[in-house]
Amino acid sequence: MSAVAFVGLGNMGGPMAANLVAAGHAVTGYDLVPEALERAAGAGVRVAGSAAEAVAGADVVVTMLPSGRHLLDAYRGAPGIEGPGEGGLLAAARPGTLFLDCSTVDVADARAANAAAVEAGHRAMDAPVSGGVAGAEGGTLTFMVGAEEADLATAGPLLEVMGGRVVHCGGPGGGQAAKICNNMVLGASMLAVSEAFVLGERLGLTHQALYDVMSTASGQCWSLTSYCPVPGPVPASPANHDYRPGFAAALMAKDLGLAASALGQTGVEALVGGRAAEVYRAFAESLDGVPRDFSAIVESVRERSRPPEVSAEPDTG
Ligand code: NAD
Repeated sequence: MSAVAFVGLGNMGGPMAANLVAAGHAVTGYDLVPEALERAAGAGVRVAGSAAEAVAGADVVVTMLPSGRHLLDAYRGAPGIEGPGEGGLLAAARPGTLFLDCSTVDVADARAANAAAVEAGHRAMDAPVSGGVAGAEGGTLTFMVGAEEADLATAGPLLEVMGGRVVHCGGPGGGQAAKICNNMVLGASMLAVSEAFVLGERLGLTHQALYDVMSTASGQCWSLTSYCPVPGPVPASPANHDYRPGFAAALMAKDLGLAASALGQTGVEALVGGRAAEVYRAFAESLDGVPRDFSAIVESVRERSRPPEVSAEPDTG
């Protein structure tokens, strides 16, 4: 069993670390927020007093942090994060430690973090996830991996505990690349499905009738059949629970922002993906911190739509 350091014990990292403990791994955890540390301690994670202490004896350092900025600051150290005079996780770990980052970050940040780890004498890989908090709790996450074969072989037993599926997408940054491509489709398809339902409402269709057609026709997609944005047709979808997340609109806006950044860096002209990023950014800002599922975008489509025109008299001429 590997000695694991787990840095970032939030909504995702907390249950992922707990699953590693349940599988018999020695996990030492660190987070900036005391409540996260308390929850992790309750699940059997040994709590460290600092990030440096957490990683000092680790074979593998797992990070599950909000963004690329947080990741790079944690790796290299930054004022107020590692404490004055400390050099970050990379400086505190033993040479040859495997750094396994599971956060969702910009592809360029993932590659920069990987390069910094290798330069410091370590091994590194990216393995962002899909499956949300339920997948983290249930150990059923999908890992999209950017790694050398040997590093994936080392991390494999840990990934198998935390997830149900591991896809090797290529070298460093490859996991993040796959994740943002997928989520660009997810954001765009949810927006398209939501627009179709609002149009259907205006044209006099019931939600169920439109669902029955689209779910077995060429409009079929995950946003419709697993996560239907209107209440009724798919009982488990957040629309039936007042759009409680689920997958928060703020996280979708973040992932689409990462996709938009990659579009800019690569020069790809993605009219639909780029527009979805703008729409979700405005939607997330309008929520002002209130947690709403990303499928609630259907409500903003309704709100933005102008009142229907009064139907014209039949042409009798
Ligand atoms: P979260 O905000 O709940 O947890 C992040 C944790 O990192 C926080 O507890 C924070 O205190 C801690 N942290 C930040 N900087 C730190 C540092 N320097 N040292 C130690 N701890 C630090 O976020 P989350 O929902 O757990 O998401 C984590 C990552 O997983 C994000 O990149 C997110 O995009 C990705 N993700 C989330 C979901 C989801 O449904 N929540 C799904 C897929 C991917």
